[in-house]
Amino acid sequence: MSLLSVHTIPILEDNYVWLIQASNSQAVIVVDPGDEVPVLAYIEAHNLIPVALLITHHDYDHVDGIKPFLAEYDVPVYGPADELIPGMTYPLSSTEQLSVHADFPSVQVLDVPGHTRGHIAYLIDNCLFCGDTLFAAGCGRLRGGTHEQLFSSLKQISRLPPTTKIYCSHEYTEANLAFARAVEPSNLDVAERQEKVASLSQLGKATLPSHLALELKTNPFLRCHKTSVIGAVKQQVSERLGDEQAVFTALRQWKDKF
Ligand SMILES: [Zn+2]
Repeated sequence: MSLLSVHTIPILEDNYVWLIQASNSQAVIVVDPGDEVPVLAYIEAHNLIPVALLITHHDYDHVDGIKPFLAEYDVPVYGPADELIPGMTYPLSSTEQLSVHADFPSVQVLDVPGHTRGHIAYLIDNCLFCGDTLFAAGCGRLRGGTHEQLFSSLKQISRLPPTTKIYCSHEYTEANLAFARAVEPSNLDVAERQEKVASLSQLGKATLPSHLALELKTNPFLRCHKTSVIGAVKQQVSERLGDEQAVFTALRQWKDKF
């Protein structure tokens, strides 16, 4: 039984803001309010009490709602020390354990650079809020970090317990699975997930959260050691692929053009 429930608020084109609620409490932690309007409306409609903002990285679609949100609710803002986050009160570095509020279990901060140079993620109970680092069946593009950083950040995430729930920031699952299918056409788990996700999308439902065990079976970026992925990447590049890192880099570059 999880101690937490997580509310899903779609914002902008295809982003999600996550509201983490402790059991038997109206207190909520808000993750990455890129737009405050739908978040404030949701909080008011459900009589919730925001107690903190957790920010994963500095992109506008994660931070633009912070200042107007703070005008309504004066709460602490946690974010990556290495990035400029509006209104940030607690700059964080990796492996910190936070006590955000008495109603919540402690929050573990993970350093997951790659999409951006200072990107961090938050692990609360068995829920990982990973921003634009790991997506369902995909991963973030490079917008400041390096392939090496992103590869090692994804490795770090893949070592978490397989039951870890993955709350990422975008609804990219369907497009990501189309790429996963191109990389591994005979991966039956990918095919099965594609069907499930297509029916959810048709109903206009979120395909998230994911969980790590499913990502390990269907996300090509976590499968760069598999012969099927290595073989597919080899057909795309002319140079030799020395190691798993090289496979990952070539796979990310392939996805950029896909
Ligand atoms: Zn981003």
